[in-house]
Amino acid sequence: MTADFHFETTAIHAGQDPDPTTGAAVVPIYQTSTYVQQAVGKHKGFEYSRTDNPTRHALETCLGALEGQAQAIAFGSGMAAIATLAMTLRSGDRVVISDDVYGGTYRLFARAMADLGIGYATVDLTDLDAVRGELGGGGGMLLAETPTNPALKILDLEALASLAADAGAIFAVDNTFATAYLQRPLDFGADVSIYSATKYMGGHSDLVGGALVTRDAELADRLRFLQNAVGAVPGPFDAWLLLRGLKTLGIRMRAHSAGAGRIAAWLRDQPSVARVLYPGFSDFPGHELAAKQMSGSGEPLFGGMVSIELDSEERAIAVCEGTELFFLGESLGGVESLIEHPGRMTHASLAGSGIEVSPRLVRLSVGIEHPDDLIADLARALGSG
Ligand SMILES: *Cc1c(COP(=O)(O)O)cnc(C)c1O
Repeated sequence: MTADFHFETTAIHAGQDPDPTTGAAVVPIYQTSTYVQQAVGKHKGFEYSRTDNPTRHALETCLGALEGQAQAIAFGSGMAAIATLAMTLRSGDRVVISDDVYGGTYRLFARAMADLGIGYATVDLTDLDAVRGELGGGGGMLLAETPTNPALKILDLEALASLAADAGAIFAVDNTFATAYLQRPLDFGADVSIYSATKYMGGHSDLVGGALVTRDAELADRLRFLQNAVGAVPGPFDAWLLLRGLKTLGIRMRAHSAGAGRIAAWLRDQPSVARVLYPGFSDFPGHELAAKQMSGSGEPLFGGMVSIELDSEERAIAVCEGTELFFLGESLGGVESLIEHPGRMTHASLAGSGIEVSPRLVRLSVGIEHPDDLIADLARALGSG
């Protein structure tokens, strides 16, 4: 299938032609490790499922099509995707990451890759002079997330892409929060988009997966080689679940964005909430940039993440423990709403790193339940209901 369709159509059809042998309308789960060859070295394109598997192949075709003629490589988790991407670097290279990067990414570079001779620097990626200084001119990689986690800062992808290009560095964008429906980093000059498919892409909190997407044929070849060499691949069932999740990504992202917008506006009126961080507010720093970058669907949509600051850590913890519909838990991006305390949960691995996460901060992943029910739940937990 060619890529001339809209996102929603591509998500349902790319890589998902009816099964040629049975006519099955849905790509089957090819739960097989090996493939029988007709003669020595003569096969139908599949030899061994670490290298390639038809269900995973369909998923990769679909993921690539969603970012316009790109190539996608699927992994067993978001971290497996990032670790495999890191293996394109060499000892002596340096990675520049955000000072509020995903905790697992920080841990990978600070505590695993550093031991292999790959240095790292954490910088506020909204400070372009600082980024230029840290990048130097020696290659390596610049890894950005926008909106950031949990502060939801908005980074200027085009500006960062040009700094990375000047330094000869790969520009990688972790697009987990926005997804390709809202934001296409490759269109703003990124070399590679990174996904934890565990979050919005899968969307139902029932799988762990990851992906890398690029239009650079040489990089794609290298990543495909490393995917097979390292072997951090998803199994056929997880690939199938993710393919199923992608079919509703568009309508889910619309519902997440609409719900988060309503809830953020309501939270702003609550006296017990000191600050609401949400890029959809017209006075949020970076709002204009977010509106430009997060318009992949044809109109600005700001995603389903909202962070709030309470007046004390005790209160932040009490709110996290006081909701019922918002489940207390790590992760994000599922149809069910989640609430968490980044300082003690998702970002606890940053302790001692010098990276600051306010202990008064609470992060909400707004699901697609009815927003009125979610507001009533928060009202009870905040004691304002
Ligand atoms: C969850 C997450 C990851 C890691 O993905 P896993 O699927 O948990 O390995 C990376 N980046 C971001 C922004 C995430 O939210």
